[in-house]
Amino acid sequence: MRGETMGDEISIPGTDEDLRAALRDVNLPTLLMVMTQLCGDERWMRKRYQPEPIVTPEGSLFPDDSGGYSEEIAEEIRAAAFEMLKGLRDHGGVLPPIPSLEQMRQMMEFSTAEPVEEAFCAMLLEETNFVDRDQVWLKSMDKVQSGEALDGFNVIVVGAGMSGICAGVKLKAAGIPYTILEKNDAVGGTWYENRYPDCGVDTPNHFYSYSFERNPNWTGYFSKRDELYQYFEHCTDNFGIRENIQFETEVEDMRFLEDEGRWQVSVKRADGSTETLTASAVISAVGQLNRPSIPDFPGLESFAGTAFHSARWREDVDFSGKRVAVIGTGCSAVQLLPKTAEQAGHTTVFQRSPHWISPNKDYYRPVEKGLVWALNHIPFYAEWHRARMIFGFMDRNWPAVPADPSWDHPDRAMSELNDGLREALTGYISEQLGERQDLMAKCVPDFPVFGKRLIIDNNWYQTVAREDVNLVTDEIVAVRPNGIETADGTLHEVDVIVYATGFNTNHFLWPMDVVGRSGTTLEDRWGDYPRAYKGMLVPDYPNLFCLYGPNTNIVHGGSIIYSIECQVHYVMQCLALMLERRAQALEIPESMNDEYNEEVQAISRNLAWGHPGVQSWYKNSDGKVVNNSPFSNLEFWQRTHDVEPNRYALR
Ligand code: NAP
Repeated sequence: MRGETMGDEISIPGTDEDLRAALRDVNLPTLLMVMTQLCGDERWMRKRYQPEPIVTPEGSLFPDDSGGYSEEIAEEIRAAAFEMLKGLRDHGGVLPPIPSLEQMRQMMEFSTAEPVEEAFCAMLLEETNFVDRDQVWLKSMDKVQSGEALDGFNVIVVGAGMSGICAGVKLKAAGIPYTILEKNDAVGGTWYENRYPDCGVDTPNHFYSYSFERNPNWTGYFSKRDELYQYFEHCTDNFGIRENIQFETEVEDMRFLEDEGRWQVSVKRADGSTETLTASAVISAVGQLNRPSIPDFPGLESFAGTAFHSARWREDVDFSGKRVAVIGTGCSAVQLLPKTAEQAGHTTVFQRSPHWISPNKDYYRPVEKGLVWALNHIPFYAEWHRARMIFGFMDRNWPAVPADPSWDHPDRAMSELNDGLREALTGYISEQLGERQDLMAKCVPDFPVFGKRLIIDNNWYQTVAREDVNLVTDEIVAVRPNGIETADGTLHEVDVIVYATGFNTNHFLWPMDVVGRSGTTLEDRWGDYPRAYKGMLVPDYPNLFCLYGPNTNIVHGGSIIYSIECQVHYVMQCLALMLERRAQALEIPESMNDEYNEEVQAISRNLAWGHPGVQSWYKNSDGKVVNNSPFSNLEFWQRTHDVEPNRYALR
């Protein structure tokens, strides 16, 4: 990880061969941006070097962004880069200034060969860390530190997963005393708990990582669980927040004490002891996907074999030769099935509904050695690489999400563009099933693409087409001591059941009892319709900030870490505002919250995941989408970018 700032001496290590090897593996349109920045003029943005637009090849959802250069021009660029970097290595130099917003835009438009919105470039300046977004609230904190406003002010963060770690890092930077309470014995949250075979991320890691702590050493474009978990461990230590974490400490309830303007937080520790803590503000960083849900099938307890949830993987269970049931066909099931089926004697997959699954030829691609070298040692390569990843993977699918009111087939697709994806993915399913075309009817979803998060294929179709795998679509009616009974009267005899049946998602902050100013619990307030202002603030619950709260989940693409950073940035500004104004309480009024959530619901109804044909954990019993963000990732950045003092009640 590089920590240089503009004006620092450039230091490039390595031999000529290291440099040449790196230049063989890098992305040329990205390299041109590095060269442009290093030489400080536009000679590398001439027509001769204009890359071809990024294209998505037929049958693939992932872009080819190589630039389409002729071998001659590609070699010319590499040779010039070699001379430029060799010169800097041998004779030194100073890092050039960061691009201005206008330069960023010109450079992005050149390297992507597409128009790029100004707001997108402003976001990129922060996401590449060319611009330190924290300065906004750090400046306010400077004023606060010189006074006495911080006296007695402290924050409790609930959870040390990716949101809690991010909050801890920023609270530490602000100089605000904080404690993180974590129910597990380690950090990492979902990346600690999930250990099923092939568990990994579906967003490229060079984007799925904190903007303030890039990792140039990811071994894959889509890393697996162990590497992700190590990354969060690393961040915890690198930013020195471990000493502020109380592990094996679960929050049972919290209550806002109006007179004191403080939260009272009751915790239970692993040894059974309890304690009551207090805090000026609480940041809930408990995630949406960590309370496993197992359907209440009749006879569940009678099963004589081994049964467990995908998020509670039993590494001690040997599948060899066993008859295994996998219930569910969501992201977890798709990831774990191929490896499980390879080991098992026979596998039965119980599918309630099929999901859309996308090809991705780069899913298991290791990061090329030369690219790792470039990310570590070529000045600004990591920044431009991240910018390009964001351009290619963040909101590129967004245009296929909203409903086109003039589209003639709203039952199956949102728009012509969305229908085109349906067609391409249906073709992919057919191709993958090979001789098992009889499975087509079971495998093609009846809801629009992006109605649920698109799953990346890791041989799902080829696995369900195996002779020793049976794809069952009849409803499960009971679990028996020796297997699973379906509605057609069949008893599927199995030795092991894997419940890949998802999580308790609509009960945000559950099972904590969270009592607001007026004595109402959050659960009573929300019932089946959890809602918050921008997913973060709830009327009657002052100084409570939810991260990854209602309507913040991302379906169409993008990194949840990006979204969390947007939220933490907003929360840090709220805390700084409270301190600057010496306010004991910051609360969002009911009217603001209502207005915001009416808008959220109005937009959601016309998005793929609001489609009436979609049954999912994103919706409540009333059909309202309560988990997903209704905005593109860029719009979410815009909407959470600046604190809104006039919207809150500050007391
Ligand atoms: P999920 O998406 O909620 O999938 C649960 C599966 O269980 C669904 O197929 C569901 O069927 C099925 N199911 C639930 N109740 C059932 C019942 N009574 N009978 C039969 N089937 C039943 O859970 P998940 O796969 O654990 O994923 C949860 C979320 O975690 C994902 O949406 C994603 O956001 C995230 N995730 C991401 C990755 C990644 O690649 N980064 C990996 C894993 C998880 P229906 O489809 O009919 O509802």
